[in-house]
Amino acid sequence: MTSRDSVLDSVVIGAGQAGLAASFHLLRRGVDHVVLDADRRPGGAWQHRWDSLTMEDVHGVADLPATPAPGRSPAPANVVVPAYFADYESRHALPVLRPVRVDRVESDGDLLVVRAGDREWRTRTLVNATGTWTRPFVPHYPGIGSFKGEQFHTAHYPGADHLRGKRVLVVGGGASAVQFLGELAPVTSTLWVTRQPPLWREDDFDREAGLAAVTLVAERVRRGLPPASVVSVTGLALREQEQRAAELGAYERRPMFAAIEPDGVRWADGAFEPVDVILWATGFRAAVDHLAPLGLRSSGGGIALEPVPGNVQAATTAVLDPRVQLVGYGPSASTIGASRAGRAAASAVVALLRSSASPRESAAAG
Ligand code: FAD
Repeated sequence: MTSRDSVLDSVVIGAGQAGLAASFHLLRRGVDHVVLDADRRPGGAWQHRWDSLTMEDVHGVADLPATPAPGRSPAPANVVVPAYFADYESRHALPVLRPVRVDRVESDGDLLVVRAGDREWRTRTLVNATGTWTRPFVPHYPGIGSFKGEQFHTAHYPGADHLRGKRVLVVGGGASAVQFLGELAPVTSTLWVTRQPPLWREDDFDREAGLAAVTLVAERVRRGLPPASVVSVTGLALREQEQRAAELGAYERRPMFAAIEPDGVRWADGAFEPVDVILWATGFRAAVDHLAPLGLRSSGGGIALEPVPGNVQAATTAVLDPRVQLVGYGPSASTIGASRAGRAAASAVVALLRSSASPRESAAAG
């Protein structure tokens, strides 16, 4: 149990790309803080990605501050990135405590109280960096509970070997669905459904297109709406490893089914489709339930962040409580965004600490 008398300048929740970047910059600026991470080991969500996702499959992992990230290779991302994070934590002596799963954060006067079981940390500011991986999203369809086959979400993808010889229905229009189909279609029977027709991208995904996508998400967050995934608005591309599946017709998508039945799905026109497995590649939501006591959500259902003119990924400060920064949220929910937001959050924390310190403390700090 942490002493009730000791007050930290900041607590970072989460030690993925966003939390590590924030901690690095807080440490550099001399901010007394801890990083609380729910996982047993370093690696953030990357340690939980499926085994066949290699460093050639991922869009690319951006550098953490001051330390280059591993590049493309056939090695599994769930080994390479956690090793990079582990090295980073020890190389920069980041104050990470784990495993600590934060249950709730409450306000107590000027302070925030971060609770995990019977432990608590009292702090002047908070940097939330809890990502999305722990909140897989499965949309509700009539009959979903009656399905007798297997259902998996991306977060629990069991790998192609497990699905071999089965008829697999892949649901979702994002990059994960494209990758699953690329891997599965050559070894088993697949069928792809999406709500909207997929947006295929022929061109190279350049800086401008990236900025346009991030700006779209930033605008949603500014309006207090739940953020869409940055990766979901960048469009889809087929890579070399997906060509075989493309030749097999795996990317001829169908619109969503109307209902799920015990042995398959029913289309809107009444026809029946037998399937053995439903693979929900339907994304994630921001893992921010532990912040609920702070009442940060706006009427739109999302947490609005103060916009930063000219730098959409630097928007990290919660409009309804400026003591709270959100990194890896909305426009910064990518590895590059998370790294940038970590820096912005640390600057915002320092500014807030300075503005709330007594004149004597400010003079000492300055
Ligand atoms: P995470 O890596 O999820 O880290 C969050 C940390 O918070 C975890 O360690 C977790 O244990 C901890 N945590 C969560 N809740 C609590 C709690 N209550 N208390 C304490 N700790 C908690 N982006 C790219 O830029 N390039 C890519 O190639 C790419 N590929 C992707 C592939 C997949 C399949 C997915 C789903 C996403 C991908 N993204 C990619 C998006 C990218 O992974 C994320 O935006 C980024 O890595 C998230 O970093 P993060 O630090 O915000 O979250």
